[in-house]
Amino acid sequence: MSAAPHRRQVLTTLIGATGALFLPLPSARAEPVRFEGHFEQGGMVVGRTVPGATVSLAGRAIRVSDDGVFVFGFGRDDKATASLVVRVPGEAAQTQRLDIVQRSYDIQKIDGLPDKQVTPPDDAVARINRDNKLIGAARSHDTHETWFAGGLSWPVTGRISGVYGSQRILNGQPRRPHYGVDIAKGEGEPIHAPQAAIVRMAETDMYFTGGTTILDHGGGITTSYLHQSRLDVKVGDKVEKGQVIGLIGKTGRATGPHLCWRLNWFQERLDPQLAAPPMPS
Ligand SMILES: [Zn+2]
Repeated sequence: MSAAPHRRQVLTTLIGATGALFLPLPSARAEPVRFEGHFEQGGMVVGRTVPGATVSLAGRAIRVSDDGVFVFGFGRDDKATASLVVRVPGEAAQTQRLDIVQRSYDIQKIDGLPDKQVTPPDDAVARINRDNKLIGAARSHDTHETWFAGGLSWPVTGRISGVYGSQRILNGQPRRPHYGVDIAKGEGEPIHAPQAAIVRMAETDMYFTGGTTILDHGGGITTSYLHQSRLDVKVGDKVEKGQVIGLIGKTGRATGPHLCWRLNWFQERLDPQLAAPPMPS
């Protein structure tokens, strides 16, 4: 929680009030590559270049749409710089060094817990592995749609009760960091699609996450909705921005009703709070 005000401050300095950052590539030509988003650990960045250009980040090719739109993101622990290469047909390749703001995360140490609270039971392991395979597959689609470029709105509004990147160390064992943003809200409240999407996963009973939906917004950008009490969509459905996709619950390993909202660029876990506008009050 304590990371949020500091981060807001850094962002305000960097990007001003609009939440957008535009950096032209150093080029003698008039055609810049424009970026919008957060060059920060957990940040999502939408780029626009000329149709027909190719783009790669840290040696990895990125899909560019027919009208020159592309997207990428930075992981929780990404290094301070990355290199982006853009090749416009008929021109020399341009390499740009990207500076990535480094964040600090809340780390909480809890000792003296009973063992069964720290280690999942043996009979759950097969189920957890199956769940993880399904989730990985749902986040692997490289869809040509560019719905992500329209931005993401909050699927529910409410008090933020958990932030991206925070981590617990239980009985000396570091747990997986928390990769979502938790929004506390009553059981049965509707969850709205933050942008148009295709449904890639709709599972009612996953071990950790209970009722879970994954939406694909194109370009490898997916959003996930955890602990739902009800799912209103199925795999393959096309959903529109604002459409109700299900209801808030506390299924899976949740202590109370809330939405755990996650954002991915393929398997890279991003911070939804950076991609959405400030939470409306
Ligand atoms: Zn969560």
